[in-house]
Amino acid sequence: MRQLWINNHWSAAIDDATFGVIDPATEEEVGRVPAATRADVDRAMQAAQTAFRDWRRVPAAERAELLHEIARRMREHVENLAVTLTLETGRHIDRNRRYVLWSADVFDYYAELGRNDRGRVIPSVEASQLALVLKEPYGVVVCIVPWNYPMLLLAWKIAPALAAGNTVVIKPASQTPLATLDLAHCFEHLPPGVVNIITGSGGTVGDALVTHPATSVIAFTGSTEVGQRIAGLAAERMTKVHLELGGKDPCIIAADADIRTAALGVAWGAFVNAGQVCTSIERIYVERPVYRDFCDCLAELTAGLRVGSPFDPATQITPLIGSRERDAVLAQIEQAQAQGARVVAGGRRPPQLDLGFFLEPTVLVDVPYTATIMREETFGPVAPVAPVEDFEQALALANDSRYGLGASLFTHDPRKAKRFYEEIKAGTVWINDPLTDNLAGPFGGMKQSGIGRELGEEGLAEFLETKHVHWDFEMQPKPWWYPYGDK
Ligand code: NAD
Repeated sequence: MRQLWINNHWSAAIDDATFGVIDPATEEEVGRVPAATRADVDRAMQAAQTAFRDWRRVPAAERAELLHEIARRMREHVENLAVTLTLETGRHIDRNRRYVLWSADVFDYYAELGRNDRGRVIPSVEASQLALVLKEPYGVVVCIVPWNYPMLLLAWKIAPALAAGNTVVIKPASQTPLATLDLAHCFEHLPPGVVNIITGSGGTVGDALVTHPATSVIAFTGSTEVGQRIAGLAAERMTKVHLELGGKDPCIIAADADIRTAALGVAWGAFVNAGQVCTSIERIYVERPVYRDFCDCLAELTAGLRVGSPFDPATQITPLIGSRERDAVLAQIEQAQAQGARVVAGGRRPPQLDLGFFLEPTVLVDVPYTATIMREETFGPVAPVAPVEDFEQALALANDSRYGLGASLFTHDPRKAKRFYEEIKAGTVWINDPLTDNLAGPFGGMKQSGIGRELGEEGLAEFLETKHVHWDFEMQPKPWWYPYGDK
């Protein structure tokens, strides 16, 4: 049984309650963790608040070395972490190895970025003065993450938050707390209280963290609905929020695109991690002249994908996180058919797999623009395709959404590419290479997909507060002060 990580100590929840974690591929329990209470949240917040007093004063160069050490330990433990991630997420072991290594890179990246950028000297009003712009850490950053990329999305938050001099309290999703708790071994060399990990439900632990008086920043990745609730609660105390939320990412296939390349790119963008990616391709608009060829090619590729165990090297499509989530996607596919769409690949649970939350990768064609599956987020391996008369119409449809996370386009035409990146309302734009992230490239959403950016220099700036200092060396009364001044 794993325990909470508070103030560099392992401990049970105050009332000893626990909950189980299920392997999505086998439906077996693979671990138990504490179900923390508000009192446990208080302990973690207290530890983080106390640690902040000294951590903010640690020289940036020293903090950088401590962050590099986290990365080194993650690389050392890559195999154990990847196996645990695979057991709790159901994602393929090869990908999890890669994600652990990439998460380690995030710590190295922010270790270096954190050495710089602590403000600037600006022109003062008079010669006898000094004017400074300071960049300071906020205090305790609460990091709440979802189950789809538990370690990577966590690294995107805590690496910059720590590099900036904040302390953190982490709440993993209740489906995937195991690898996050194991990651504590990579934080053992940090001063007590700088990193704290607390497990439990969103309703209890999440809510207690969001409303805690010691919380300075809420860094949240998850659904738009929970994000909206958090933003509302944060507004009461004016707590800074950083929200990475849902998406309904469009992909446009222009008439000049190479069809096989575009179909391969869409199969990757729609089905990677069984479609459980916030930036999955979820709406595909294809210019009419290449529509039929594209649909045939995508259907053929999809039918050939192999669904199975995340530990099998040949597997391409792994299970969804839970039965409820799988059934919700199946219901969306059914509803789309009732609304006029046709299934040309997949569309059901794989008959050869009795256990596990598997779903065949699915291609829907002739999907009406107004169908629910073209408007509401789908967290599963589904590619809904619709024809468009021209690029103009595709662009208008792509922008017709409450979300604005990512968007992609396949074209060789520079005029279409430029219009696309200028006019699409999305935080990330991919042209001919969907879903590629870049450590230096800021990531985040427009519209209801979020507030703020992770990664890049912007990712560090989110965790630094600005202060303007105006200092007059000569303590002389100014002519405009009372009682001399006229107002
Ligand atoms: P979710 O919103 O249900 O849960 C996310 C986290 O919030 C979990 O840790 C959960 O326990 C916690 N939580 C739940 N209720 C809470 C509350 N009332 N107060 C505080 N915390 C609470 O999302 P999910 O189902 O875990 O993840 C899927 C969603 O995440 C999708 O909508 C997806 O698009 C989104 N997502 C967004 C990004 C991004 O970067 N924009 C990345 C990954 C996932």
